[in-house]
Amino acid sequence: MRYQESSEQSAELLRLALPQIARHGGHYYPSNYAVWYEYLAGGNLPLAEEINRRLEISKTLSQVDVEKLYDRHIEAQKLHQVEKMQIGLGDLLLKLSELASRSGEDATEYTRTLQECEAELSKMDVQGGLGQLVATLLTSTISMRTSADTLRKELDVTRSEVEGLRDQLGSLQNEAVTDPLTGLRNRRGFTRALEELSASDPEALGRCAIMIADIDHFKRVNDSYGHLFGDQVLRTAGQALKSVVKGRDIVARFGGEEFIILLPNTPESGAYTLAEQLRNTFARGRIRRANSDEYIDTVTISVGVAIPMPGESIEQVIERADKALYRAKQEGRNCVRIAA
Ligand code: GH3
Ligand code: MG
Ligand code: MG
Repeated sequence: MRYQESSEQSAELLRLALPQIARHGGHYYPSNYAVWYEYLAGGNLPLAEEINRRLEISKTLSQVDVEKLYDRHIEAQKLHQVEKMQIGLGDLLLKLSELASRSGEDATEYTRTLQECEAELSKMDVQGGLGQLVATLLTSTISMRTSADTLRKELDVTRSEVEGLRDQLGSLQNEAVTDPLTGLRNRRGFTRALEELSASDPEALGRCAIMIADIDHFKRVNDSYGHLFGDQVLRTAGQALKSVVKGRDIVARFGGEEFIILLPNTPESGAYTLAEQLRNTFARGRIRRANSDEYIDTVTISVGVAIPMPGESIEQVIERADKALYRAKQEGRNCVRIAA
């Protein structure tokens, strides 16, 4: 169970949470309630720390802020638990599969030994009590060999079932971090990739550049050509992004028509050049409607770029890149802006 508070304690938290919701954003959504409930209950330390940090800067949090807090500290945590379970299950299946494989090898070896014994025993030409003994040994050896054979076959089946399950689990884990439309990482996949990057090199995030690209007037594309065509544009955008970035860069679809790219070991100038290149790719590209010779108006993007400042968390860098993107939109779109 996620929550351990007694009914009285939870009633008290309800009483305290409601005024908080009213003060910050004012939407009585379940996600808002979860944020303030967990903040007041005190069990979610990273959430509490971020809220306290933000409240030092500004008196209230907006609905968008609270939603982001929910995504980052509640939703993501739930996923973490599921993923931990998946990894545990994956390890277990791997062990089972190894065990089945090893037992299968043992059974094969045992069968071979029994076969040799059987051959030797049948060659013996002995009479009397000893002859009877050899005959009995032969019969039980043959029956043992049959059981060992059956065991080996069963283990083979078990092993391939376990391997099948492992593959299924692997693709489920993959699906959970992939955006089905573009094949890029989704938001969760992005967070996961950041975690992996900083686990392999704790300084890596401090040396990266963050780029957020958002398609300009995408609503118009949907309105003029339909949602399905909009999806096609998003897929094309995903491919364009993939073609511009290099191996270690992390690209993800961050939201509807918004993409995020993390460039490891990249200074501001390098990130700006790449952002311009990306913007140009879009501005020059032409998108044809499926099964038709009609080209649609050029689809452009706006890009915000940010480089970490000393002591800044990656979330703060992303926030500044987002602000730079907002500025790019305000200043006419189809342009790149660098965060202050
Ligand atoms: P701006 O230049 O300010 O970014 O304008 P915009 O129209 O691109 O931005 P706005 O946020 O107003 O609209 C985004 C649109 O993106 C609205 C939404 O319907 C569309 N959208 C989001 N996700 C998808 C999707 O998966 N497929 C399609 N076809 N459209 C989507
Ligand atoms: Mg847009
Ligand atoms: Mg957008």
